[in-house]
Amino acid sequence: MSSSRNLPGQARHFHFASDNTSGICPEAFAALLEANEGFLPSYGEDAWTQRAADLIRETFEKDCEVFFVFNGTAANSLALASLCRSYHSVICHREAHVEKDECGAAEFFSNGTKILLGDGRHGKLDTDSIEELVTRRTDIHYPKPRVVSLTQPTELGTVYSPDHLGRISEVARRHGLAVHMDGARFANACASLDLPPRALTWEAGVDVLCLGGTKNGLAVGEAVVFFDRALAAEFDYRCKQAGQLCSKMRFLAAPWVGMLAEGAWLRHARHANTSARRLADGLAALPGVKILCPVEANAVFAQLPPALADGLGENGWHVYNFIGESGYRFMCSWKTTPEDIDTLLKACRETLAAAG
Ligand SMILES: *Cc1c(COP(=O)(O)O)cnc(C)c1O
Repeated sequence: MSSSRNLPGQARHFHFASDNTSGICPEAFAALLEANEGFLPSYGEDAWTQRAADLIRETFEKDCEVFFVFNGTAANSLALASLCRSYHSVICHREAHVEKDECGAAEFFSNGTKILLGDGRHGKLDTDSIEELVTRRTDIHYPKPRVVSLTQPTELGTVYSPDHLGRISEVARRHGLAVHMDGARFANACASLDLPPRALTWEAGVDVLCLGGTKNGLAVGEAVVFFDRALAAEFDYRCKQAGQLCSKMRFLAAPWVGMLAEGAWLRHARHANTSARRLADGLAALPGVKILCPVEANAVFAQLPPALADGLGENGWHVYNFIGESGYRFMCSWKTTPEDIDTLLKACRETLAAAG
């Protein structure tokens, strides 16, 4: 049976366009089916939601406060809004999702909190850059810095070490800033460093984590994890007002149980990272291709010769131009197979050969 409904002109090969082009992982799907039995309380008062939050507390080895929302933009912007008042500012890397890919949601939900842009190599914020932004001005005419927001792994597929996180937290503490982490791919960072989640979060000074589920293998859903419970005050109202309180919460929560109960989240992340490594090695061996960032998680950024990028596009591959004119992003997920990678590499070789 074919369920293919290809639209005219639609790319055929989406494997590497993003980690959210893949489906739902089997563990999440099984839990979803199991949660479909019977009648249960709504709005998060059910046992699935309780169990999912408990599993997150176990995973992080911390009695944290947990909220489940539909997506990462909501998680980040509501978390930042809860840390800030309208006259505050948030410091993040200029490549941060919060800045570039959330349509101003953080500013909107916080009623005007300004985003200040910092720098650092390969998507990682330098402590000097944070220090400069905080101390640049101290007068009343400048929006008062209140939060440092980090992405782990970064938008460029690199990973902050616990040491780097600790140094950032030290600067943040010294200046009275809270530390927020956008962990849309947090699992990939844990897998990459082979460290327990606590070592990359509360032990390293992170106050609030937006823990990604979607790119890890859920259909939908991210968790907002407050390691400092006091910061979570009235966060439930923010979620509700923003349209992020799921009435049939068990369906948002149960897949987390499937993912966390027996370690599928880490296994999938490890697989995605290994796949990216394999892909990077294959791409690096092609003439004219250069790997642009260290491959530390599930992303590969590569500079492609124009003939290769164009040729792949013409052959139905969706390739995502991410950096400058010739820097392309390839993402791997729980679903990426070695055969998918070999198919792409073969297409690359054929395209290059045809271009002469
Ligand atoms: C995907 C992603 C998010 C979440 O995006 P949504 O589309 O809102 O779910 C957040 N941060 C980063 C770094 C991401 O890659």
